[in-house]
Amino acid sequence: MGTPQPHSTRRPSRYGGILRVATILTLLANAAFARNVILLIGDGMGFNHVAAGRAYAVGSDGALVMEGIERHGQVATHSATSAITDSSAAATALATGVKTYNDAVAVALDGLSLETILEIAKSSGMATGLVSTTRITHATPACFAAHEANRDNEVQIAQDYLRDSRPDVLLGGGGRVFSSALLGEARQAGYEIVSTADGLSVAAASATQTSKTLGLFAYSHLTQEIRRSEASSEPHLWDMVGAALAMLSVPSSDFFLMVEGGRIDDGAHDHDLRRTTLEVAAFDKAVEVVVNWTQAGSARQADTLVLVTADHETGGLSIQNPDETLAAGEFVTADWSTWEHTAADVPIWGFGPGSEAIAAQMDNTDIFPIMLDAISAEAGTVVSSVGKRATTLGAVKRAAATP
Ligand SMILES: [Zn+2]
Repeated sequence: MGTPQPHSTRRPSRYGGILRVATILTLLANAAFARNVILLIGDGMGFNHVAAGRAYAVGSDGALVMEGIERHGQVATHSATSAITDSSAAATALATGVKTYNDAVAVALDGLSLETILEIAKSSGMATGLVSTTRITHATPACFAAHEANRDNEVQIAQDYLRDSRPDVLLGGGGRVFSSALLGEARQAGYEIVSTADGLSVAAASATQTSKTLGLFAYSHLTQEIRRSEASSEPHLWDMVGAALAMLSVPSSDFFLMVEGGRIDDGAHDHDLRRTTLEVAAFDKAVEVVVNWTQAGSARQADTLVLVTADHETGGLSIQNPDETLAAGEFVTADWSTWEHTAADVPIWGFGPGSEAIAAQMDNTDIFPIMLDAISAEAGTVVSSVGKRATTLGAVKRAAATP
């Protein structure tokens, strides 16, 4: 696939006076500047999960959409306290550039809040969105827009969304987390609440500059693809991504969007190869929606950094087909080495401004600075805090990497 057109104009500083001063101090021109940043995370999606999805979706000789993305590498995922991460420590690393303990939601080892890429994007005037097939208050989305000592604090995570970070678009499951009082709070905060795929389509079509959307499409997680009935009113992951792009594109501001294929992990924990495979295929369809959107013709859409990765590998999946190749629609045969996560590296793909920084071998904390560079009007500057502890690691890393 082609690289979207390089941007031609630099957006005015989002950091106001801070950056105007900083501009003078800028060490290098920021070639990574992007209008929009989209991060897609396959929960538990190791290399062999991708290979299983490939065989099923397009056959052994084919390639998934994500596999066709031009820049790629692999990512080490350990947390601050364990060789094997959980989803929240990994998502904190992706969202803040800082490793922390397993179960932490965008807080550091010392318990202090870490500013996330979504919060930085919001404070710099960008629209923001979170999309997941899990409860929207589950670990991965939470680490982008909440700060809690433990991922199980899902009511508090919802409160963090509604009271503090207020992403413009929140789409996923988790109706059980939102009491009527919390739903009232959401409406007070300006959210339209939708609960079906049809409702989401209407909301996407009628989105305005100021609208906010809270989509709660299931009591807990969304139903995995293989278990969905024809009559299901739940949107697919790719439907939610299409709607999120439509809604976030309405404002004249640019946006940050995180998308999680959240149920690859569950299938792998249960050693259910077919369930896992269909979730990988669904995730790839969501990637396809994003790729097509960036190539739809507008310079503003083309000027988007897209990163596709995973938080960790789940299950120690190995593919064990005998001497044959597979046609589309067939499943690999496989074995698993654990019911838990593993320390295996995971893939990363990317395109768009800033994706040049993708390296063959990366750490999960290297991804935040790529996104930070892309949304900062100038490189080499320390971003502002939103009243919590500022994350400066990204800026430090960039300064250190500058000759
Ligand atoms: Zn898991």
